[in-house]
Amino acid sequence: MENNLTRLTDTVSAIKTNFLFRTRLLPTHVFALETKNGLVLFDTGSPGSGRLILESLKEAGFDPGSIRAICLSHWHRDHAGSIAEITDLLNPESGVEIFIGQPDLPLLEAQRVRVLRFHPFLNLPVRHRPGRLPSPSNGPIIPLDRAGCAKLDRKYGIKAISTPGHTPGHTAYLHRETGSLFSGCALSLLKPHLVGMVPIFHDRKEQVRSGRLLAELDFRYLFPVHMFLRNDEIPLERRLPCTGKKGAMAKLMGDHFFFRYGEHEHGKERRT
Ligand SMILES: [Zn+2]
Ligand SMILES: [Zn+2]
Repeated sequence: MENNLTRLTDTVSAIKTNFLFRTRLLPTHVFALETKNGLVLFDTGSPGSGRLILESLKEAGFDPGSIRAICLSHWHRDHAGSIAEITDLLNPESGVEIFIGQPDLPLLEAQRVRVLRFHPFLNLPVRHRPGRLPSPSNGPIIPLDRAGCAKLDRKYGIKAISTPGHTPGHTAYLHRETGSLFSGCALSLLKPHLVGMVPIFHDRKEQVRSGRLLAELDFRYLFPVHMFLRNDEIPLERRLPCTGKKGAMAKLMGDHFFFRYGEHEHGKERRT
């Protein structure tokens, strides 16, 4: 059977997980980063992804017991959906630290259905439920306030970047040593060569501001949760302005692009 895990760089692997309703309609990835202090996961996929993540790691030669931390980009079910499954499956004494943006913590903890907005012009309401919370004995959930950010940076060399808009506490993560940006839903590869934002939000203006902040950030690799995966370097000088007209589909979806970048390594979307 094909493993769901793909090694992207020397230190980063991606695991294909479930999207909502245990489907894979929208590609949804969990990333595993190897640090000096153990494995760090970025997001957890939807409910039902926990076992799949741990087994994929094992098959690829990782020890799931070495998972030390989980960095959540935001409270949505397709990102925080399997934190409880993962901590339940691991040794309860493992003390996995779970990090989340401070404003998103109460939204996750309340365990209530909330209304999100879909599409910048239509503003369609979408009901959404958070993932199940781990039992408190299975490790604390650490809000990324000043102390939380300092802890994440000190232990794992990861800088939390507050990028509200998709949710109030959406957070992107930059691994300083390798320049790997785990952008959650703040910056996505909407097409293999086009970087923009998903049309789901809590506050669209803030979302655009946060997306732009990341688009102008000095990073080397971009690892968004949904859609396309790439592992080539993308320093500032390779980010090109989006010129030309948007396609009909992009307009219909309310897509917002920040930049395009170079040739796709598989040559499919080659542009000169
Ligand atoms: Zn989301
Ligand atoms: Zn999502």
